[in-house]
Amino acid sequence: MALVQTKGLVVRVVNYGERDRILTVLTEDFGLITVMANGSRTLKSRALIAAEQFCYSQYILFHNKDKYTLREVELIESFFDIRADIERMALAGYLCEVVSHVGTENNPDIPLLRLTLNALYAISSGKYPLWQIKGSFEMRAAAILGFMPALSSCAACGEEGEDTVLDVMNGVVICEKCRNLQSANDVQIEEQRESNSILCLLRPAARAALYYTIECPLERILSFRLDDPEEQKNFSYAAETYLINQLEFGFKTLDFYKTIISIEA
Ligand SMILES: [Zn+2]
Repeated sequence: MALVQTKGLVVRVVNYGERDRILTVLTEDFGLITVMANGSRTLKSRALIAAEQFCYSQYILFHNKDKYTLREVELIESFFDIRADIERMALAGYLCEVVSHVGTENNPDIPLLRLTLNALYAISSGKYPLWQIKGSFEMRAAAILGFMPALSSCAACGEEGEDTVLDVMNGVVICEKCRNLQSANDVQIEEQRESNSILCLLRPAARAALYYTIECPLERILSFRLDDPEEQKNFSYAAETYLINQLEFGFKTLDFYKTIISIEA
């Protein structure tokens, strides 16, 4: 048995028995790991506070074969204000489900951890609209996970193009001219599924914003503005469609987030 140290973010908590918790933690050094937190539900200790979802902490763990057990934990950031409202909780829950789906043990992914911490901080601060945090996270996460789309120019002719369509599964954009050459009939496409292709019309400002979220320095990822509600919707739709289809997975927490948003709206 060895003692190891790392920093990590709790993305999932499962109560176990009367007193224990099983934490899923995205760590700096060991990737996504499962940590047994014995007694964490009864102890009047710092472990009680830090063994909550969304908490980022410094850990000292026992490591034995494939198992990690909590020895000590010191809270760094709880992102407390995420818990202030149900929409924030729902979005943070979705981001954490994405992380726990894509993360793997012994495969540390610092960019993904930083992106997630950055997004949780933004949610907690209340300074940014949730659609902007969500879409930026989705697009950047896709890029970090190896699904970087080529958004800067049309994949067929190389021109920048004003009106473009995102070919989701191929991760490229096609300009209207080339689209018209391909098929004469369907100009106004929101989403089209044919022979496994998913096409999503991209408005110019939404496309520029999507491009920005994957190319900018991480700490500036929310430093863009989209004022037109139609562009916002298009940005959100494209980012979500892109990530979900690249991962080929449906997230229950995303369905829940959408339920909450539609109730609040
Ligand atoms: Zn083209």
